[in-house]
Amino acid sequence: MTPQLIDPFARAITYLRVSVTDRCDFRCVYCMAENMTFLPKKELLTLEELDRMCSAFIGLGVEKLRITGGEPLVRKGIMSFFESMSRHLDSGALKELTLTTNGSQLERFADQLYAAGVRRVNVSLDTLDEEKFARVTRWGRLPQVLRGIDAAQKAGMRVKINVVALKGFNEDELFDIVRWCAERDMDLTFIEVMPMGDLGNEDRVGQFWSVKDVRDELEAEYTVTDLVERSGGPARYVRLEESGQKIGFITPLSHNFCESCNRVRMTCTGELYMCLGQEDRADLREALRAHPGDDGPLIEAIHKAIGLKPKGHDFDYSRQRADGQVSRHMSHTGG
Ligand code: SAM
Ligand code: SF4
Repeated sequence: MTPQLIDPFARAITYLRVSVTDRCDFRCVYCMAENMTFLPKKELLTLEELDRMCSAFIGLGVEKLRITGGEPLVRKGIMSFFESMSRHLDSGALKELTLTTNGSQLERFADQLYAAGVRRVNVSLDTLDEEKFARVTRWGRLPQVLRGIDAAQKAGMRVKINVVALKGFNEDELFDIVRWCAERDMDLTFIEVMPMGDLGNEDRVGQFWSVKDVRDELEAEYTVTDLVERSGGPARYVRLEESGQKIGFITPLSHNFCESCNRVRMTCTGELYMCLGQEDRADLREALRAHPGDDGPLIEAIHKAIGLKPKGHDFDYSRQRADGQVSRHMSHTGG
């Protein structure tokens, strides 16, 4: 299908990331405060509304849909949403249906996700040490996540591990994590910690471990070859020649990737964020709820929102403070 969503900088928007809940069964220190106040249910799009919203975007040329949160798999009834979205895979309009998860519920849902057409899943995992895992996620338990990863692979899905690079936390595990992923034939992406939300005493500048430094460390042990492949997002990829592994680096702070940006993000309340690092947003829920049987106003609101997509973001740690900081949490916009 010809993309119909072209922003003012001639970028075609073909990738939608949707947060289906702001809730989570973990409380990762860089993402949430321990005592979070979550949204009242009536603020959230219902599963039917999520379906209508995503289907409208697919009708406008979105080919890749990533479901995220909060923790998407703790949303009640979420499997029926995945099952329903699979009709767009069957029709060929949607090329990929995928999700980002903390893995805690994968053991339960892996087979159903595969049956709904999910072939790849990103699982966030910052450490292989049980005690450290409990510390960074506050409420998470490592064995449960490891069982989830096994279940996903057994069901037939490709698993990619997302690691947030945290200075003084997982620096010492770099090679263990790389080898562990290689043994299980899993790709791996390192993410720089971003200045999201107000997390009280969490020192984000002090925690900042540049993925450029991660790459430099890898070069001490491996032959690292740059890959030209881009995802339209902030990730850059290399191959480790000795293991054949593909490794991604997400550098939202130290590089400008905005020129090739092909994505927008929707919150669980139906707000569309045109850029991860800017506050510009459009309320699509209003257009959706005011016209139950008619998608015309919703489609008009989507076009209008895409017409406001900014050129880029302003994150910057270079002056030893978190410039361009936005006040919302990643769990709100969906990482
Ligand atoms: N709960 C799911 C998970 O953890 O994968 C999906 C939502 S989570 C917000 C998506 C991704 O955002 C995770 O990989 C997480 O590590 C990352 N993330 C959360 N807060 C972050 C921050 N401040 N900086 C960088 N990445 C962050
Ligand atoms: Fe939950 Fe994911 Fe945020 Fe951790 S990063 S608190 S798992 S939403």
